[in-house]
Amino acid sequence: MTSMRSIVAAAIIVVALCWTGQPGVEAQPQGPAAQPGTKWTEQQLRDAVAPARVGKKLTPRSWPGNARVAVCLSFDVDNESYLLARGEKSPTTLSAADFGAETGLARILDLLDRHQIPASFFIPAVSALLHPAMIPAILKGGRHEIGVHGWIHEFLPGVGSAAEEERLLNQAIDYLTKATGKRPVGYRAPAWAFSEHTIGLIRKAGFLYDSSLMAMDEPYELVSNGEPTGITELAIDWTLTETPYLGRNGAMPSSEQLYQLYREEFDGAYEQRTMFVLTLHPHVTGHRAPMHHLEQFVSYMKSKPGVWFATGEQIARYVKDAQ
Ligand SMILES: [Zn+2]
Repeated sequence: MTSMRSIVAAAIIVVALCWTGQPGVEAQPQGPAAQPGTKWTEQQLRDAVAPARVGKKLTPRSWPGNARVAVCLSFDVDNESYLLARGEKSPTTLSAADFGAETGLARILDLLDRHQIPASFFIPAVSALLHPAMIPAILKGGRHEIGVHGWIHEFLPGVGSAAEEERLLNQAIDYLTKATGKRPVGYRAPAWAFSEHTIGLIRKAGFLYDSSLMAMDEPYELVSNGEPTGITELAIDWTLTETPYLGRNGAMPSSEQLYQLYREEFDGAYEQRTMFVLTLHPHVTGHRAPMHHLEQFVSYMKSKPGVWFATGEQIARYVKDAQ
């Protein structure tokens, strides 16, 4: 729908910078010096895009149980972590993020339990450290996956060195391994932002899959500088998350319009027999209005025959085994 798309585009333009901390489509460089790409050679252009490219498409011939579509509901459990990373101490600001741990997560887990569907939770270690009851609550039903989402939701392009980035990554992996009793296999970069070191570091750490990039809306193998990485990419998208639209900086405070977009994206994935990944945040989605629409959306997807609800790990393992 054109009008829907234009509302969504406007929303992204207004708030992408607030959320991601990096310039996106809204950036308007001033003067020729601010547009170095205009002078780049073909080789420089190729080098610029080489670190993360699309390799083999991994949508299998069929999904388990002959399902038409794989659906991964994912939750980035940021809570206060991203605010603490930048030194925020305002009780008011922190309390709005604490909502995710105190209220939002329980509502989400309750919804998933009632519908008996699995989900993937990407948790910054500091978020778990401040709320130690969260991980046992997520793991209680035995259906959900916990993946890495940074130590303190650090913005990786600003960390400064490969050594420091690796220290934070290993600290996060160690914390979640101890807290869950299992080494995480899924990775999602904080703010979905990679540094120049990130792909090398997640390869070295042995992750099965990443879910931070956006080049396709079906699973693919991540290729880096011409080399297949062996990492499966379960791609996400700026339009398939609620933070640009809802919450304090939200530019489209209408859960109804937002879920209309999600429904249309799901319908397309269902038609194409591929994959639908949605990323939500307990401190935003856990509020009453978006929860009402999430509930309706899950019921809508469940009403269709042949929908495979799965964790990122289940999808990544399945597409790898299907090759
Ligand atoms: Zn996050």
